[in-house]
Amino acid sequence: MFGLEEKPTKHVEPEKWYIAVDCAKCCDGIAFAEAPSPQRSDPLQRMISNLKCPHCGHVDTYAPAAMSLRQAAHVS
Ligand SMILES: [Zn+2]
Repeated sequence: MFGLEEKPTKHVEPEKWYIAVDCAKCCDGIAFAEAPSPQRSDPLQRMISNLKCPHCGHVDTYAPAAMSLRQAAHVS
C-alpha cells in the first residue's frame, strides 16, 4: 500500500485563497488546498507527503512551517 499522494489544486481561481508551498526544487508556488479566507483559516498542522510540483514534477514532503496562505494571483 502506497502512501497518500497529495494532489496540487488543479484549477486555481483568481480571488480565491489557497494554502501553498514553494517547490523545494524550482521554487514555484504550489497551491494544494483552498482556504476559506485570509481572516478565517486554520493553519495546516500536518505534513504534506509526496506533493508533486505541477511545474517541474519534483515530489517532496513539506512541513507546516513551509506553508503559507496566498491569493491565487500570487501562486504561479
Ligand atoms: Zn517545482
